[in-house]
Amino acid sequence: MFSTGKGMSLRFRFSIITFLLLIAASVLTYALVAKIVSSVVDSWGRRVVEIQVLNDSARILQPLEREIGIAQEMAGNTAIQSLARHPEDSGLFEPALSEMENYRQKFQSHSYFVALNRNGSYYHNNAENEYSGSELRYYLNPENEADIWFYRLIEEGLDFHLNVNPDAELGITNLWIDILMRDIAGDIGDEILGVVGTGIPLEVFLSEVVNVHQAGVTTLFVDRYGAIQLYRDPEMIDYASFVKPEQDKHTIDLLLTDPGECAQAYAIMEKLLEADDLQKIETLKAVIGGEQILAGIAYLPTIGWYEISLLNIGEIMPVSRFIPAIIIFILILIGVLIILSLFLRIEIFKPIGALEKATRRLGKDSHEELDLPSGKGEIDALIKSFASMADAIRFYTDDLEKQVEARTAELKDLMLTDPLTGLLNRRGMTERLKGQNERSARTKETFGLIWIDIDYFKEVNDSFGHAMGDTVLTAVSSIFIESIRPYDHASRWGGDEFLILLSPETPDDLRRIIDRLLSSIRSWSSPDAPSLTISIGATTSDGGESIDEVLQRADEALYSAKNSGRNRAVIAD
Ligand code: GH3
Ligand code: MG
Repeated sequence: MFSTGKGMSLRFRFSIITFLLLIAASVLTYALVAKIVSSVVDSWGRRVVEIQVLNDSARILQPLEREIGIAQEMAGNTAIQSLARHPEDSGLFEPALSEMENYRQKFQSHSYFVALNRNGSYYHNNAENEYSGSELRYYLNPENEADIWFYRLIEEGLDFHLNVNPDAELGITNLWIDILMRDIAGDIGDEILGVVGTGIPLEVFLSEVVNVHQAGVTTLFVDRYGAIQLYRDPEMIDYASFVKPEQDKHTIDLLLTDPGECAQAYAIMEKLLEADDLQKIETLKAVIGGEQILAGIAYLPTIGWYEISLLNIGEIMPVSRFIPAIIIFILILIGVLIILSLFLRIEIFKPIGALEKATRRLGKDSHEELDLPSGKGEIDALIKSFASMADAIRFYTDDLEKQVEARTAELKDLMLTDPLTGLLNRRGMTERLKGQNERSARTKETFGLIWIDIDYFKEVNDSFGHAMGDTVLTAVSSIFIESIRPYDHASRWGGDEFLILLSPETPDDLRRIIDRLLSSIRSWSSPDAPSLTISIGATTSDGGESIDEVLQRADEALYSAKNSGRNRAVIAD
């Protein structure tokens, strides 16, 4: 990771943003999918529950309507009606009994009952033909609690009634089909003669019609008061609900524990009763036993019951089934982000990191090899711009270095040169002398030192002016330069004194150069300038002594030349 000037690195920030985006996208996706799924499940569930209701209704109606039809026919049977009108007439008994036997065969359960109003006689025979010969079982009694259903039916004049009731005598629970027998030929008009019908064993009915064995689907039937008539759990069934006091009834309130949902169910039932249409189905969302349930409700006019199909949405279409899809989506998302970050890493972060390193190297040393990365598009353009910038920096740095070098050399020259004559100054000559002395100490090469002083130079200044003095100094400097060899060095030691270093030196060379100096100065002339002479003190050395000693010897020789009358040279031994 490369460092940045301020705060977090770009790559780190990108990673954080990527991570946050990933979480946000995941949460959003989950919420969205959950919402879509719930709405799909909702509308799909409604369709399913409608189909389920029709299906369940048909399943109960088919067998029941057949039984009801037969029972209605039985209630209108002339022979049975005759007996019902005159139960005391023993002549009517046999034909009526033969008809009853006939209907026993027709009923699905091969059992029937005929209860007569006039004397309370109750006829019954079952599939086993157990009561053949003793079909008149007993006499109903209004005082008897078990017989109340009969008197209530008569009293209320209900032509048709379904009743789930345990038969104390038989020890089984039956779904009873009760049909009111109205007198169709009697003098009193529609006098109620009794009740006829059949009983279907509840167990059979529950297993064939109610327990549908579809996962997540429950079917129940309730009467118009909401009392549960058929349900997979027999405990919940409201047996003999017709004669029960209101508070003892097992109603849908037992299932729909939420009062709001329960009230809604009753309102739906009321609406369906008014519509009186089997095809009309209403749905209701509710919570039963902690589970989300979609209930479909239909009114079955032929039997006066409601069919309720309960669909456990969570069981039929759990949202968890969509989790693999969501996980796959999120994995794809992660994959895309990884590829994206790899791309950014290779295409952007890596070249930028290398560029940043190169910048730092360039900052330290503009001549260092930069090792620039390669890139594409804008990054390539950036790298190229950087390379040309680096070249420019190198160029200007080099130029600056050269200028500094040149300036330094100039300064050094100035430091070692006499500005008036252009010869070495005392410092310059001292350096040369030191160098020569050291070299001679090593190689035993001898060198010569010529000390020159212009004679009566003060008078030149005094008589011709200082400017002429300067001109003379410059002129003699030129003569000195011309008189020595290319590898010798001339210097202005100070005022009108000059030092010449001859290197290497032989006594002949020394003599010859001194003579040339003396004669060149004597023969020099310039308009308005006085004639000149110089005095010379010279000596030689092979490096075996200090410079000061050599200088002193030359100086003493000059002194001696001055004292001996000037315009001459004295060479020290
Ligand atoms: P001597 O023969 O004994 O050498 O006599 P001199 O007059 O030459 O005496 P000296 O060498 O002592 O005098 C040197 C004079 O040089 C003194 C000074 O005024 C003069 N002088 C020194 N530097 C310069 C300079 O740069 N320009 C000019 N015009 N005169 C200088
Ligand atoms: Mg002088």
